[in-house]
Amino acid sequence: MKRVCILHVGGTIAMIESPSGYVPKVGFVEDYLAAMEEVSRPNLPRWDLVRLDPLKDSANMNPSDWLRIARAIEDRVEAYDGFVVLHGTDTMAYTASALSFLLAGVTKPVILTGAQLPLSDVRSDGREHLITSLLLAAEAEIREVCIYFGARLLRGNRSQKVNNHSFIAFNSGNYPPLAEVGVTIDLRRSLLHAPRETAPHTTALLRTPEVVAVRLFPGMSGRGLQRLLEAPVEGAVLETYGAGTFPSADEALLAAVKSAHDRGVVVVNCSQCHAGRVLQERYGTGHALAELGVVSGHDMTPEAAMTKLYCLLASGLSPEATRRRMTENIAGEISHFG
Ligand code: ASP
Repeated sequence: MKRVCILHVGGTIAMIESPSGYVPKVGFVEDYLAAMEEVSRPNLPRWDLVRLDPLKDSANMNPSDWLRIARAIEDRVEAYDGFVVLHGTDTMAYTASALSFLLAGVTKPVILTGAQLPLSDVRSDGREHLITSLLLAAEAEIREVCIYFGARLLRGNRSQKVNNHSFIAFNSGNYPPLAEVGVTIDLRRSLLHAPRETAPHTTALLRTPEVVAVRLFPGMSGRGLQRLLEAPVEGAVLETYGAGTFPSADEALLAAVKSAHDRGVVVVNCSQCHAGRVLQERYGTGHALAELGVVSGHDMTPEAAMTKLYCLLASGLSPEATRRRMTENIAGEISHFG
């Protein structure tokens, strides 16, 4: 019989209403699962629940939380066939991306899930998410970090939260769903990570790099951008327009990027569009960034680019080595274009 570890880290799924809005409640999931007859049926894997205190609204998650989740998985990886991580939806795409880099080469399913409505609500979407995630976490062909939500299994580092109302809260604009879930669970095997020849490894985070995300907008001033990229910033995800275009007619904006790059800041170009790819050579307005040494984020989500940048810098790589690694595929987060 398969064994799955449920790591409970927080999120709406296990929240209750309070005078200050939804807040996590310790013991809620334990009590709920104890009363839920389906989860002890023989066609579900056996499971254990591990709570990582303090439970958090995922808006309060930070890289130290990514690390404690990665360590909790690493410590139990031999004992279980797979993992379900109960997590808030707001920053789930960041955590899923970060885990894919921290646990590069993981050979077991790591399924993040949560809910738009708490389990305490009669219309909660959490119940089905929990049950289907348990089944997915027992699926030996999944060897990667995924998000299960709204009847779709998505690659974690390709996902973005796109809706805070619909039960279909996540999308993966540049990679098809790994499974469609209806009356049956249809895994799309050709899209999954193939078995690896190299052993899985956990990335060590040796330090806390200073990284920023900067979203361009028409009218942004050169001084404003310069301030955002000032020391001690070491890495920046620049969220540009369309295919990676930048207001290149504005000398002050270009100078702000140039001085950051020359100071050793790794600047990565990601598009504000949810699908498509950055092609810095396509327009003169994007080419200007390529000439300054800005790294193209290709088809990475800003969430994947940000967490990848963070993990690479935190692992002690130099700016030059980080720039190179940013364009390479580590965990299925970026496509290669010929
Ligand atoms: N604010 C919540 C969280 O991210 C939202 C959710 O879980 O849906 O923890």
